[in-house]
Amino acid sequence: MDMTDRKDQLAANLAKVEARIAAACAAAGRRRDEVTLIVVTKTYPAGDVRMLSELDVRHVAENRDQDAAPKAAECTDLPLTWHFVGQLQTNKVRSVVGYADLVQSVDRSKLVTALSKEAVRVGREVGCLLQVALDAGESGRGERGGVAPGGIAELADLVADAPGLRLDGLMTVAPLTGEYAGRQQAAFERLMDLSTDLRRAHPAANMVSAGMSADLEQAVAAGATHVRVGSAVLGVRAGLG
Ligand SMILES: *Cc1c(COP(=O)(O)O)cnc(C)c1O
Repeated sequence: MDMTDRKDQLAANLAKVEARIAAACAAAGRRRDEVTLIVVTKTYPAGDVRMLSELDVRHVAENRDQDAAPKAAECTDLPLTWHFVGQLQTNKVRSVVGYADLVQSVDRSKLVTALSKEAVRVGREVGCLLQVALDAGESGRGERGGVAPGGIAELADLVADAPGLRLDGLMTVAPLTGEYAGRQQAAFERLMDLSTDLRRAHPAANMVSAGMSADLEQAVAAGATHVRVGSAVLGVRAGLG
């Protein structure tokens, strides 16, 4: 496919996603500007990120540092906010803080310490969302990362007190197992309740990141402020992404 065709395809897909978000907002009695679209560009090349930027996308997300770091380096001239949404090992923190404006997958104290140290070292402020595991029960950790609901308050205090970090809110991925399996809207409503609790102690931490290509309507209905959409914009990924 040549570049013009690819850009037309991305524009058409974006228009469809935009229409879905707008319809979901209307159905929920919410204003369209209450929901921010984050396009998940994982596995797709920097050229696609550049086209998305030309098509007025302002938020992009990546989940693997190896893939994201070179891509972000090719796109430093673009007016984009970069979100990191993947499970993050502390040995990747130095690289990720080099380009990520927000890390949505903060789920343990060791990671908070490492992010804070690096943010201070390079003089950046990194926005942090706590990734909530709704398949973990009240304690423990989720299969794909995430802090259990019972661990949110303590981790939130830690982030809020950490130099170089800003506590921005909560994120989740609809669980494939456990009581919320197949019940995306219930899962996202639970996340909203947890966000309400969080905002009692941290009023500015008002981001609620939920919903992907398959379930963005349920996320908007539940009250999400950010949806993370990959395949509906860029196409179905080959292999694991
Ligand atoms: C890949 C990914 C998405 C986007 O998923 P799609 O189904 O492609 O829209 C959203 N959030 C996270 C954390 C992801 O890893």
